[in-house]
Amino acid sequence: MQEPLTLDQRLSEMADIALRVKTCTLCDLYKGRNQAVPGDGPVTAEIMFIGEGPGFNEDQKGLPFIGQSGKFLDEMLALIGLDRKKVFISNVVKCRPPENRDPLPNEVSTCTKTYLFRQIELINPKIIVTLGRFSMGLFFPNAKITQIHGQPKRENGRIYLPMFHPAAVLRSMATLRPQAEADMRKLLVLLAEYDQAPPPAATVSPTSTNPAGNSTVPPDEPPQQLTLF
Ligand code: URA
Repeated sequence: MQEPLTLDQRLSEMADIALRVKTCTLCDLYKGRNQAVPGDGPVTAEIMFIGEGPGFNEDQKGLPFIGQSGKFLDEMLALIGLDRKKVFISNVVKCRPPENRDPLPNEVSTCTKTYLFRQIELINPKIIVTLGRFSMGLFFPNAKITQIHGQPKRENGRIYLPMFHPAAVLRSMATLRPQAEADMRKLLVLLAEYDQAPPPAATVSPTSTNPAGNSTVPPDEPPQQLTLF
C-alpha cells in the first residue's frame, strides 16, 4: 500500500509537471507552439474538465479554454453556479496542433501518459468531465459522443461524465445547446450522489498510464469544499 501524498507533495509535483510541459519536446507539437498549456486550477479540485488541446488564444497565453470555447464553458459553469476557479481544467494534448488539426494518436499517447494521467492521480477528482471525443476516448473507448453524452460512468472511485466539446456546441447551437445544458446540470446531481456514496475504489494497483486507476491521494482528503451556489 502506497503512502498517500501530502498536499504539499501534490502541489509540488503539479508545479513540476507544469514546468516540464512548458519545455516538453517529446512529440513534434512543440515545434509550432508559442506556449504549452499545462492546465489550470486547484490541485484539490473536486471536478476536472478535460478538453482536446489548446487553440490559438490558449497557445498565446498558456492557459486553457480562454477563447470562444472557454467563454462558452464559463457560461455553462455559470448556469449551475460553479466557479471556474474551483475546478481544474486541462487538455488531452498540452500544445496546440497546427491549424487546430486533430491530435495524432502518438501525440495523444505520449502527452497523456507523461502528463495528463499523473495530473489526474494528483488531483484525484470526484468527477472527470470529458469535453469532446478525444477526451472521451481516453475513458470511453469506441464510444460515440452523440450516443453517450450526459451518461455517467462510475469506475475506480470516481464518476466520468462525457460532454460535447464547447466548440461543437457553438457550431450547432440550436440542436446541441439544450443537450449541453442538460448534461451540465447533471454535474450537480452527480456531485451530490458522490458525496452520499462514492463509487468503489479501484482494485488494481495504479500507474500513471492507467487513466482510470486509483490514486495515492485519499478520496476524502480534499481540504477545500466546493461551494456551488
Ligand atoms: N479547446 C480545447 O479543447 N481546449 C482548450 O484549451 C481550448 C479550446
